[in-house]
Amino acid sequence: MGVLDPQLKRALADRIRFYNELGIYDFYRRDPSQLNLSDTQPEQREEMTPRTNAAVEDSFELEKPELKVIDRAQALRLIREDLGDCTRCVLHKQGRKQIVFGVGNPKADLMFIGEAPGADEDMQGEPFVGRAGQLLNNMIKAMGLRREDVYIANIIKCRPPGNRTPEREECETCSPFLMRQIAAIKPKAIVALGAVAAKTLLAINAPMSEFRGRWFDFRGTKLAVTYHPAFLLRDPRQKKETWKDLRMVMKELGLAIPAKGVE
Ligand code: URA
Repeated sequence: MGVLDPQLKRALADRIRFYNELGIYDFYRRDPSQLNLSDTQPEQREEMTPRTNAAVEDSFELEKPELKVIDRAQALRLIREDLGDCTRCVLHKQGRKQIVFGVGNPKADLMFIGEAPGADEDMQGEPFVGRAGQLLNNMIKAMGLRREDVYIANIIKCRPPGNRTPEREECETCSPFLMRQIAAIKPKAIVALGAVAAKTLLAINAPMSEFRGRWFDFRGTKLAVTYHPAFLLRDPRQKKETWKDLRMVMKELGLAIPAKGVE
């Protein structure tokens, strides 16, 4: 097969990215003999023949290992690449040190989504590495899992100045990348940590009492809401309630439930 024209190659890469954004990663080759051109007008048919050939050529190109099956880790790398050194919202000029993309197992069954990176996360480039992160680690351990078994991300990827609550526009600008991460990972369940994550993901303005203790459908994935670990640091009595939420998640994932809860 001949080498693809660079312009066509770029167009193909754009098209693949478009499908990836829709959560489609596997591509199949269409048998050209099965193409039904019978109801096409002759003048269109002339036009279409070369394009059909190009399409077939494209699908051969898709057989290159790096393009054919984009696995979850590859998909995440592609999303990170698209994000680049993001300047899409004001946070890039309000003191963020780095983008905090997300961390964990690309094939995780369980995904935790927090609000925004804090100072420690901004410094280290990884979500939930400060005090709240230590508590999240304990929550994960209490579930019988390791941090590296799950995937952890935030609604927004840059630290807001003074850890203020993210603005709606920042969430709207940034969250499409999170949506793509979720679509790439395809977790069995998502746990939204705190009201900001819950409200943004579910587009429901409700208090925590209405979010907790039940499952929501998030684009075909089960989503539960529990308290943010930073809140639990301020009010440790609520850990008992959090443990109830996590037990609900464990039951859904078929995980054995130990007697001991979150410490
Ligand atoms: N709080 C969050 O919501 N996310 C982090 O990554 C750290 C603290």
